[in-house]
Amino acid sequence: MSPSLQINVDKIQYNTATIVERCRRQSISVLGVTKGFTAIEQIVQAVVEGGVDGLADSRMENIIEMRDRGFHLPITLLRIPRLSDVLNVIGYVDTSVNSEFTVIQALADAARTRGRVHQVILMIDVGDLREGLLQENAFRAAVQTAKLQGVKLVGLGTNMGCFGGVLPSTDNLGLLVRLTRAIEHRLGSQLEVVSGGGTSSLLLLENGLLPSGINQLRIGEGILLGTDTTNQRSIPGLHQDAFRLQAEVIELKEKPSLPIGEIGRDAFGNIPQFVDLGNRKRAIVALGRQDVNIEGIWPLTAGITIIGASSDHLILDVTDSETDIRMGNEIAFGLTYSGLLSASQSRYIAKVFIGGRYDRTNTGH
Ligand SMILES: *Cc1c(COP(=O)(O)O)cnc(C)c1O
Repeated sequence: MSPSLQINVDKIQYNTATIVERCRRQSISVLGVTKGFTAIEQIVQAVVEGGVDGLADSRMENIIEMRDRGFHLPITLLRIPRLSDVLNVIGYVDTSVNSEFTVIQALADAARTRGRVHQVILMIDVGDLREGLLQENAFRAAVQTAKLQGVKLVGLGTNMGCFGGVLPSTDNLGLLVRLTRAIEHRLGSQLEVVSGGGTSSLLLLENGLLPSGINQLRIGEGILLGTDTTNQRSIPGLHQDAFRLQAEVIELKEKPSLPIGEIGRDAFGNIPQFVDLGNRKRAIVALGRQDVNIEGIWPLTAGITIIGASSDHLILDVTDSETDIRMGNEIAFGLTYSGLLSASQSRYIAKVFIGGRYDRTNTGH
């Protein structure tokens, strides 16, 4: 059997609905972020049925596919638009996040020629140092944007926990809210959106510490995996096992744990290190670095460890496996966000849907 990504759409819908409800109690809308699974249709459907207010993705290819498949919710583009791509952005996206005035001007020009109004969220860098205007430049950018025809400044946003690993806090999100209020004062009009980050902001929400005024979160990881990597936690009340990866055992042998012969570099240029544990029972499964980011998966069976991987072979030590492993068995793995990202876009991994209307539907995606 091909390796497969088993996707429980009911659990994804449940996670979505749970997060949406928690947010709604505090008057916060939720964008379902689809980039972590390349916007696979059945998963988008589960997220939509979970009640999100809009969808969001970083890739135009995913967004165009969602539109072509008939998803009508508002869509936000989460990566600064490419100057070379503004016509597409105007055509398919309701709102984009921005930090470069040149791009905003180009969006405005393109929108005017199409008789449209494109919505702009200005990204503010409150410390993580990925995208965004520094606070001292936010006023000028907001005033200039508000003057343009073809775009509408709908609010401010920030991103955290990505490049610098900076955690969202009452301080840095409070700063975003204060900046929004000050800009509203200058413009003499209200801004609709104060977008306070992604999954890593849910901890503040759960503890009642999210500054009032934040009224939108953009959630990917929490919905999909029920985890919050930035804060190193499982999110209470959510499913952590909506996804699992399965691959088949193609060799099963006792072998020494130390390779025999002179050690050079492995296929990826690294010098491997080994500890002599005597003879061990090893299984090779038909899965490799070409399919998935191996660092982003772990065996779900207790006692099995990953000891190495090349492009097409994943090598496991199954000596202490809790269940008996046989030739032809499938071994199951859990996935992190990066594991999920890679597995969902591999054309070698079949996507198998469980639950919803899709029970066992298999697509090559
Ligand atoms: C990916 C992304 C998100 C979603 O982050 P999660 O941690 O998966 O919730 C939110 N906002 C922006 C700008 C992103 O790029």
